[in-house]
Amino acid sequence: MIAEVIVDVLSANVDRVFDYEIPEGLDVKRGSRVAVPFANRNVEGFVIATKSCSSFGGNLKRVRALLDELPALTEETLELAQYMARRYHILLAESLRLFIPAEMRGGRVSEKTVAMVRLPVGRSLEELKVGLRKGSVSQERILEYLSENGDCSTAELNERFSGLRSLEKKGLVEIYTLSLNREPYHEVSGRGKAVELNEIQSQVCEQILSQPGGRFLLHGVTGSGKTEVYIRCIHECLQLGNSAIMLVPEIGLTPQVVRRFRAEFGGQVAILHSGLSKGERFDEWWRIRRGAARVVVGARSAVFAPVENLGLLIIDEEHEQSYNSESSPRYRTEEIAAYRTARHGATLLLGSATPLVETYYRASQGEFKLLEMAERANHAELPEVVTVDMRREIRQGNNSIFSQELSDRLEQVLSRGEQALLFINRRGYSPVVVCSECGYVAKCADCDVTLTYHRDEELLKCHYCGAKYHMLTECPACGSKHIRQNGLGTQRVVEQLRERFPKARVLRMDNDTTQNKDAHLTITTKFANREADILVGTQMIAKGHDFPNVTLVGILDADLSLYFSDYRANERTFSLITQVSGRAGRGYLKGSVVLQTHTPNHPILKLAREGDYRSFYEYEISVRRATFFPPFATVLRVMVSSESDEEAVECLKRVFAPVMELKKKYPDHFLFLNKMKAPVKRIMKRYRYQILMRVYGAMTEQIIGQIYDVLDSVPGKSASAYLEINPASMY
Ligand code: ADP
Ligand code: ZN
Ligand code: ZN
Repeated sequence: MIAEVIVDVLSANVDRVFDYEIPEGLDVKRGSRVAVPFANRNVEGFVIATKSCSSFGGNLKRVRALLDELPALTEETLELAQYMARRYHILLAESLRLFIPAEMRGGRVSEKTVAMVRLPVGRSLEELKVGLRKGSVSQERILEYLSENGDCSTAELNERFSGLRSLEKKGLVEIYTLSLNREPYHEVSGRGKAVELNEIQSQVCEQILSQPGGRFLLHGVTGSGKTEVYIRCIHECLQLGNSAIMLVPEIGLTPQVVRRFRAEFGGQVAILHSGLSKGERFDEWWRIRRGAARVVVGARSAVFAPVENLGLLIIDEEHEQSYNSESSPRYRTEEIAAYRTARHGATLLLGSATPLVETYYRASQGEFKLLEMAERANHAELPEVVTVDMRREIRQGNNSIFSQELSDRLEQVLSRGEQALLFINRRGYSPVVVCSECGYVAKCADCDVTLTYHRDEELLKCHYCGAKYHMLTECPACGSKHIRQNGLGTQRVVEQLRERFPKARVLRMDNDTTQNKDAHLTITTKFANREADILVGTQMIAKGHDFPNVTLVGILDADLSLYFSDYRANERTFSLITQVSGRAGRGYLKGSVVLQTHTPNHPILKLAREGDYRSFYEYEISVRRATFFPPFATVLRVMVSSESDEEAVECLKRVFAPVMELKKKYPDHFLFLNKMKAPVKRIMKRYRYQILMRVYGAMTEQIIGQIYDVLDSVPGKSASAYLEINPASMY
C-alpha cells in the first residue's frame, strides 16, 4: 500500500503530497501521523490518503514509523484542514498543525506511564510462596503486601522492600505498564451548585433545542445566566449521544467555570487552554480523541478539538477579539465553527452581553436567530453608573488618580466590609519613562514602541518583543538626570491605594502577576474568599468573574480605548465598560460603578452609562452605514515587513501596483486604497508598511481572492506580506 503524505515542513516548495510505501504490518490509515525520510532527514508527516499504487516514476521511500496508535486526525478534521488551507491561503502543513497539540509534534511529550506490579492471575498466595527459597523474608513480604493491597507501583515496592527483581524472574509477580491521566485543575473539585432555570432561561433553551442544527445569537445582559443555558443544552446534546464544544476567551476560562462544568459533567469534560502543562494538554486531547471526554471547554484553539458526532458548538463572549488569530496562520474562529457545525448538522450558539455590531446586524438579517435575556438571573439590579469628569477634579485641585466620588465610595465599601474592583485600561496607558529636560522617551531598540516601566523588577520592558532594559539613570539624549515616569500602571494604582487606605488589603491582577499557570486561580480564589478588599487589574478582571460581595467597580480611565484609531474603538469601549460594570452587584447587594473620564460628553460613554445595548447598537450601526464600515464594507490590510527598510518599501511597491490595477478593474467597489507606514513602524527588527483598502459590493470575495493571488506571487525572499480581513486591531 501507498500513503499520500503531507510532510510537516513549512515551505511553499513542499506544499504538496509525497507518496511513501507502507511497510507490511504497519497499520497506517488516512489521518495517521507517520515518520518519513525527507531530504536526508527524518520528518513527521500526515497521511491524507492511502492507495494501492503510485504514479510516481522513481523508487518510493518507505514510511519509517507510525507515530500514534489511533489516527490523530479524523475524517472531518482532515477535510476541515484542507478547507482552511484553501480559504486562508495557508500551507496545508500549517493548517494540519492546528489540529494536534503543539507538543505532540516532534514527540516532545508522550503518555505518562508507571510500571505496576501484580500477582499472577489465578494463583493463590500460598501457591506462590511455595516457589520461594527458604529465608527469602523480604520476597515473601512483597507477595503478602500485594495480596493485601492490590497492584502497586514498582517504585513503591522498591522503596519498601528488596527482592522485586528476583520475584519477577521467577515469574511470581508480573510487571505491566499503566497509563496515567494528567488531569488539569484536579485541585478544583466539583462543588458548583446546580440551579433551576428561570422562565426566560427555559424558554431560550426550548427554542435552541427545538431547532437542532440552528444558528443562534444569545444576547443576555451580564449576570443573566447564560452559562446555565449552555449547560442545559449540553446535557441534551449528551443525551442524544453527541459531543459539545464550548469556547470561552482565554481569560474567561476561570476556575469558577471549570468548577461548574466539573460538577455538572465530571470526567466527561476536557479542558483545553494554554495555561495547562504540556502533559496535561496532551492527555486531555487524547481523552477527546478516544471519545472518553465528550464535552470540551477551551479557548480559541479548542474549535479544532477532535470530537466526533458534534451536536453543539458554543462561542461564549463572541465579541472577544481573541477569537481571531492575528498571527500566522490567520483564521476566524466563527467561520471554522460554522463549517464544523454545518458538516455535522450541529447547533451553533453565540453568546454575549455585548455582541459585535456585525454579529447583531447579521442576526437582524436572519443569519442567526436572536434570543434575548434582558434581566439578571437572580433579579439583582444592574448597577448604577456614575460618571466623573476628571477635568473638573483637576480644576478643583485634586491631582490624584482617584476622584473624590471614587474615594468616598471606596471608603464606604471598606467600612461596610464589602469589596471593590478597580480597573485600568493598561493597553493604551502604561507607565513610560520620560526625560524632564528634553522630552526623550525610552523606546525599544527593535520595535518602534515605548518601553514600560516595571517597578518591582526596576526594569524597562518592551511589550511587543519582550526585551528587557535597565532603568535609565540619565537621559541618553541630553544627559540630564531628571527622569520621571508618566502614566498609570497597575503598580502605581496599588501604591496610591496603600497610601490612601493603609488598612485595605489590595490584590493586583495583570500580565505580570499571572505569569505562572496557577496565579490566576490563586488571586481569584483569594479575592473570592474575601482575603482582600480591593482587586486592581487590567482587562483580565473584566471577564466572567462572579464575586457576589463586590459592590463597587471603579473604571479609572474610561476614555482611552476611544482613541484607538480603528473602527471598532466605539464598540470596544462600550463592551469593556459594560463588562467591567457587570462585575458589580451580582449578589444580593446593590452595586455601583464610578466611571472616570476626561470626555464625559462622548456619546459612547453616555450610552455605556445607560447600559442599553440596543441603543448603542442603533447608534453605532447608523455610523457604520453612513461611513461605509463593516458590515457595510470590508476593511482589508496588506502588511508588508522586512528587516531591511529598502526591501520592505520595494516589496510594498511590487504589491501595490497590481492592487492598483484591481482598483481600475473594479472602480465601483473600492472606497479607499492607499499605502503608508504602519502605525507601529518597526516590530522585532522588522520595518512595517501597509496597504489599506475598503471594498464593498458583490465582487468583494473576488477581489480578496485576487489579492491573495498577488501575494502568492509577488513578495521576494527577504520581505513578507500577508492579508488581513477586517483586522481586530491595526497597530
Ligand atoms: P452570565 O454569563 O450571563 O453573565 P452567569 O451564567 O455567570 O451569567 O450567571 C450569573 C449568576 O446568576 C451566577 O451566580 C449564577 O449561578 C446565577 N444564576 C444563573 N441562573 C440562575 C437561576 N436560574 N436561578 C438563580 N441563580 C442563577
Ligand atoms: Zn533628555
Ligand atoms: Zn521590542
